[in-house]
Amino acid sequence: MIETIKIEELLKSNYDDVLSIYLNIDPSSSDGGRAPSLIWLKTAFKDLNEKIEPSKKDYLEAIEDEAKSLIEGTLFKNKSIILFMNKEIKELLPSQVAVENEISFGKPNLGQFIWIIEEYRPFGVLLVDSSKVEIYKVYLNKIEKIKSFNLDLDTSDWRKQRLMPPSSPREGPTRGSVGGGDRVEAYEDRIEANQLRFMKNTISYFNSIVKEHSIREFVLSGSEDIYEKYFKLLSKEQMSMIVGNTPIPIDTNPRNIMVQSLSVFWNYERAREKTLVENLLERASAGILACVGIDSTLKSIQAGRVDKVVISRAYNQTIRKCFKCNHHEMITEKPCSNCNSPDFIEGSSKSFLPPLIISFGAKMEVVGDDASKKLMAYGGVGAFWRY
Ligand SMILES: [Zn+2]
Repeated sequence: MIETIKIEELLKSNYDDVLSIYLNIDPSSSDGGRAPSLIWLKTAFKDLNEKIEPSKKDYLEAIEDEAKSLIEGTLFKNKSIILFMNKEIKELLPSQVAVENEISFGKPNLGQFIWIIEEYRPFGVLLVDSSKVEIYKVYLNKIEKIKSFNLDLDTSDWRKQRLMPPSSPREGPTRGSVGGGDRVEAYEDRIEANQLRFMKNTISYFNSIVKEHSIREFVLSGSEDIYEKYFKLLSKEQMSMIVGNTPIPIDTNPRNIMVQSLSVFWNYERAREKTLVENLLERASAGILACVGIDSTLKSIQAGRVDKVVISRAYNQTIRKCFKCNHHEMITEKPCSNCNSPDFIEGSSKSFLPPLIISFGAKMEVVGDDASKKLMAYGGVGAFWRY
């Protein structure tokens, strides 16, 4: 599984011998499916072999078989496969997220990968019950349990103590009546105190989990009265990471936990994206440090002015990058506007934009649904500027 951290490593690396493959194996998609994709891959390897420098042919051939068998081993149950490999690295990401078929050899081709991990960033699910806290990570349409806490209440010990005569010095001051009712109450108080301690204890792990799994958002769930108590125990900063809540019984199977928490997460996400796009359009039309449209967006990114690029999920357009100076622009008849070179590589914005955005230190956000439709009416892409 490729973690977010790997992108930076791959981006910074000087590797120029990486085989990058994106393969759509979703049987329900029009161009995908396992058999057609394997045929596509075979042809793509042949074409690649003809295109690359003769000196690299042996190297590519040496890793080709391994790449194919890695891919064939993960075909089942996945919708897509992403692979980056050379003789040193082997990063395979089978996922439930659609990709467009692509193959390349040279510098790692990270475009679609960056796009995908932005759009399907991980979030956490906190499942809280009276004696159990489970933490899940939902990532790329998969769910994984990352931590589980159990409250071990050994109450047999307490009963013994409770049965001691009230005059026992260990009992402390006598609280009014010494009847059974009071004992039950004390017993329950003690359980509650233990639960509280247990909850607080699990919360102390929160920050390390956030850090280790790059999770910025959580859905809070479990049994309603308990997660409400739990919420009140969180710090302000932790509270701000809770993006929604929903009751889910603790023994629910992981797949259903994912489905239910995803719908809470998407609601939050869609509302946030709607506000983001409205803000972008408002500022762009008023000329306040923002723009829309691919032309101005490309120019402002490469001028180093951009803080965040916003892209419709539906947006995809062929753009070009200069072979000589790597300047990105829209396709025209003219030579490179930066260096006058007539040599270009053309490619989809999905594969060219993300690495460009990251290399200029900007952030990127892919928006879906209504926000996507709204932005598509203004060219599908825009940017917030820093100055
Ligand atoms: Zn150029």
